[in-house]
Parts: sequence; C-alpha cells; structure tokens
Amino acid sequence: MRDVPVRPGSYWMEYGDTAAHPRPPEGLDVDVAVIGAGIAGICTAWELARAGRSVELLERPGSPPE
Ligand SMILES: Cc1cc2nc3c(=O)[nH]c(=O)nc-3n(C[C@H](O)[C@H](O)[C@H](O)COP(=O)(O)OP(=O)(O)OC[C@H]3O[C@@H](n4cnc5c(N)ncnc54)[C@H](O)[C@@H]3O)c2cc1C
Repeated sequence: MRDVPVRPGSYWMEYGDTAAHPRPPEGLDVDVAVIGAGIAGICTAWELARAGRSVELLERPGSPPE
C-alpha cells in the first residue's frame, strides 16, 4: 500500500484564490445562500425554495461566458 502524504494545513487555504472571489451582497438575509449557478447550485436552490426556504443563488460576475 502506498503512503499518502500528510498535509498539515488546508488544501483550499494553501492553493485556493479566495481573495479573488466576490463577496455576497450587503445585507443579504436568507436561509441559504447557494454559491455557483451550475446545475448543482440551481437544483439545490430550486429544492430549497420548494421546501419553503428563502434562497439567494449567487453567480460570479461574467458567467456564463458570452
Ligand atoms: C467543455 C465541457 C463540455 C461538457 N459537456 C458535457 C456534456 O455534453 N454532457 C454532460 O452531461 N456534461 C458535460 N460536461 C460536464 C458538465 O458541464 C459538468 O459535469 C456540470 O456542469 C457540473 O455541474 P456543477 O454544478 O457541479 O458545476 P458547474 O457547472 O461548474 O457550476 C459551478 C458554478 O459556480 C460558479 N462559481 C464558481 N466559483 C464561484 C464563486 N466564487 N462565486 C460565485 N459563483 C462561482 C461558476 O461560475 C459556475 O457557474 C462538460 C464540461 C465541459 C467543461
């Protein structure tokens, strides 16, 4: 069995470009904010809304590409 390298920190904090992500709108007051309007995000937001939750579906600016 191969050894799996142990990573002490968070992969996402180490490699993710978190500073480039847009912030949610000021004063956003919903039960759930779904980030990313791909098929997973749209279906999640749809199901939550159908279940009576208030939902905001957030997509980054410029998507989809023109
Ligand atoms: C070239 C190509 C062709 C494909 N062809 C097919 C096909 O023919 N049939 C098929 O079944 N599948 C196809 N796929 C695969 C399919 O597109 C993916 O499996 C599917 O879109 C994954 O859905 P998802 O919701 O998980 O992610 P995505 O569709 O990637 O959605 C994620 C969303 O999150 C948004 N997002 C990311 N970061 C942020 C952020 N910080 N803030 C706000 N929004 C953010 C993105 O802009 C994106 O809209 C193809 C993929 C590619 C790349």
